[in-house]
Amino acid sequence: MFSFTQDTMAAHREKKSEEGNHRSARNGAHTPQAQWGRAWEVDWFSLASILFLLAFAPLIVYYFIMSCDQYQCSLTDPLINLLMGNKHLSDIWSKTPSLTYTAAGIYTAWVAFQVILYAFVPDFCHKVLPGYVGGVQEGAVTPAGVVNKYEVNGLQAWIITHILWFANAYYFHYFSPTIIFDNWIPLLWCANILGYVVSTFAMIKGYFFPTNAKDCKFTGNFFYDYMMGIEFNPRIGKWFDFKLFFNGRPGIVAWTLINLSYAAKQQELYGHITNSMILVNVLQGIYVLDYFWNEAWYLKTIDICHDHFGWYLGWGDCVWLPYLYTLQGLYLVYHPVQLCTANAVGILALGLVGYYIFRMTNHQKDLFRRTNGNCKIWGEKPDYIECSYMSVDGTKYYSKLLTSGFWGWARHFNYTGDLMGSLAYCLTCGFEHILPYFYIIYMTILLTHRCIRDEHRCYSKYGKDWKRYTAA
Ligand code: NDP
Repeated sequence: MFSFTQDTMAAHREKKSEEGNHRSARNGAHTPQAQWGRAWEVDWFSLASILFLLAFAPLIVYYFIMSCDQYQCSLTDPLINLLMGNKHLSDIWSKTPSLTYTAAGIYTAWVAFQVILYAFVPDFCHKVLPGYVGGVQEGAVTPAGVVNKYEVNGLQAWIITHILWFANAYYFHYFSPTIIFDNWIPLLWCANILGYVVSTFAMIKGYFFPTNAKDCKFTGNFFYDYMMGIEFNPRIGKWFDFKLFFNGRPGIVAWTLINLSYAAKQQELYGHITNSMILVNVLQGIYVLDYFWNEAWYLKTIDICHDHFGWYLGWGDCVWLPYLYTLQGLYLVYHPVQLCTANAVGILALGLVGYYIFRMTNHQKDLFRRTNGNCKIWGEKPDYIECSYMSVDGTKYYSKLLTSGFWGWARHFNYTGDLMGSLAYCLTCGFEHILPYFYIIYMTILLTHRCIRDEHRCYSKYGKDWKRYTAA
């Protein structure tokens, strides 16, 4: 079994004091070391974007879900109705289900169950599943030079949750498998409450009792700090890591359950489940399982290695992800599309090829980093660029940037594969409405923005070495 701890070994530690001249030779001496990580200063464009998102992101989520609930998933009808004066905002609002005790109970039980699985059930899967990396793993080096340990047990949490779901659906019948769909809007209020509580708590914690003060960043701008976070890796106790918990569970564990609930609703309403619904469940199920199978690897992705924990991650994981990533299944409850065989096979092929590219590109980087370049990429020894960087305490690290395989073709071919998969989910819904295509539009914006952010981050981190890499 591979250990991700070796990744950090690839970044050899050396002290700046022993390194001065050597550093200049390797890195052009002007790696802006203290800048690595998220911004210290806020430009007007970032501030405007943040204010826009804080004000409108919750409304966008509400608008999409309400459109399905009241307008059969038409995004234009509510607007037209309002503009023509046929309806007032108060009409729409009065038809919106409010928070209920049932939803509050379901949501509290759900989150509490995931907390228990995360915090109190050590991983067993890595002991029995060959090739799976779980249990205690190390994250990447933070800008302050800290290497955090994580209890990686997401796959186990996902399996236990789904076994219980199916046991209930087919045997115990304690609750209906349509429970999520049936309480979808009341649950939205609960998810929002948790999202805001956790983001606000993270902000207060960053000021008054941070887990690691050296990895905190304050821009002085309240809105920016609230949105993008102050603490890098907020924790309660030694193991309860906010980023790992909220990123994966409750959001991503819920993703497949939400889709299953939509499929159950189709069955209840129409007496059968369409092939488009099966495709959405299968393709998104592969993506979710991939996430949990590779959870240890995700410790090295931008969410964990770059982003601080604020509203963007806290509210985003609680509300944005479960509600907007699952729009295709929701749409198919209202519009049960039955695809012809050729279209279904074509969409399946697009989704699987996209997944293959996504996984192989990620795998190549992971294998390369884990073995410190002692591996084969497409049957040959990999080409790479040697690079170095510094943490704020002046410790110098060495690393390598791969220029073979998919990483020799483009800087983020994994994003290309991800976008192909995203398009496949949307295509299952046909072309009658724009709503299910939100996902591909959003992912294109998200991943393009990520390319720009990553470019900035890697240049800040590696300086001239990054220039050499991009030139190569
Ligand atoms: P990447 O996996 O592309 O990671 C970028 C980081 O990898 C860089 O910051 C750098 O980190 C390192 N790196 C860059 N180039 C190289 C190279 N040539 N050789 C070795 N290391 C390199 O991006 P993300 O972390 O954003 O994404 C991970 C996956 O998650 C992607 O497949 C993406 O599609 C998916 N994703 C999905 C989302 C969703 O909502 N569904 C959201 C975001 C991501 P360093 O050198 O510092 O280690």
